[in-house]
Amino acid sequence: MTLPNLTQKVSIAAEITTQAELAEKVYSLSVRAPEIAATAQPGQFVQLRILEPSFTLRRPVGVAAVDKQRGEVTFIYRAIGRGTAALAALMPGESVGVLGPLGHGFGMGYSHPLLVGGGMGLSPLLYVAAAYAGKADVLMGGKTADELFWTELFAPLGGRTFITTDDGSLGTKGFTTTLLPDLLEAKDASYDAVLVCGPEIMMRGVAKIAAAHGLPCEVSLEKRMGCGLGACLSCSIDTAHGRRKVCKDGPVFPAEEVFL
Ligand SMILES: Cc1cc2nc3c(=O)[nH]c(=O)nc-3n(C[C@H](O)[C@H](O)[C@H](O)COP(=O)(O)OP(=O)(O)OC[C@H]3O[C@@H](n4cnc5c(N)ncnc54)[C@H](O)[C@@H]3O)c2cc1C
Repeated sequence: MTLPNLTQKVSIAAEITTQAELAEKVYSLSVRAPEIAATAQPGQFVQLRILEPSFTLRRPVGVAAVDKQRGEVTFIYRAIGRGTAALAALMPGESVGVLGPLGHGFGMGYSHPLLVGGGMGLSPLLYVAAAYAGKADVLMGGKTADELFWTELFAPLGGRTFITTDDGSLGTKGFTTTLLPDLLEAKDASYDAVLVCGPEIMMRGVAKIAAAHGLPCEVSLEKRMGCGLGACLSCSIDTAHGRRKVCKDGPVFPAEEVFL
């Protein structure tokens, strides 16, 4: 399987065009970054740096959408700590440092992939779904219906949407792994890959099921990282091919290289 290559990265102070709260503590942030909008591949990420007040370390976030014509890039993030809370306080017209696009994204050569996501992992899958232009379906899981505001974001992108919730308040009761075998074994199923982003326990379960069905599976790993450029080694992991850096060699890896 061929994963997209690194594209030309830039480091800019980008003007914020939109900052909107989508759900409790979950924000959609758009910035003017034409160079990044022109080259970012689905599954790649950027490092955001809060300039005011100045933060030394950048925070990694996946690319959720690009608008090449307007030269804008959108990220969806949860405010869970000091950095993301400071990010949420920024207003349109202010600037944020953006370094990217970074890493390797998802394979884009499949004919009918199934995207599987949970929590904030659904954010980069939005861009994957948009790029597949209706050829990808999505299976999304959440604890309760309240978490699945994502359905509205995926709806305009085409493709079918399948939902699971832990408590059964929306879609099938259970986890994504509860519904996945049915989807892969359905009479009309024609999936040729499973692309996953979400909590590691979910990705491991999905990868096992995909392997049992003989399907290629790509997973997007989340590791704490410093530089995002492969220099500081803080996001190194052991893989079937030796030590790899999530920021540079990933974040997307073939599942069998990192899990099985
Ligand atoms: C490649 C990549 C893409 C990501 N994409 C998104 C995204 O699209 N949307 C989103 O909401 N989040 C994303 N994250 C996670 C995001 O980077 C962290 O939530 C963020 O850095 C937390 O910063 P903070 O200062 O608010 O939190 P801190 O105060 O530093 O920490 C608060 C909590 O966040 C956890 N955390 C901190 N940094 C990371 C990290 N790099 N990865 C995982 N957990 C972390 C800590 O363990 C702690 O529990 C991504 C992470 C990676 C590695």
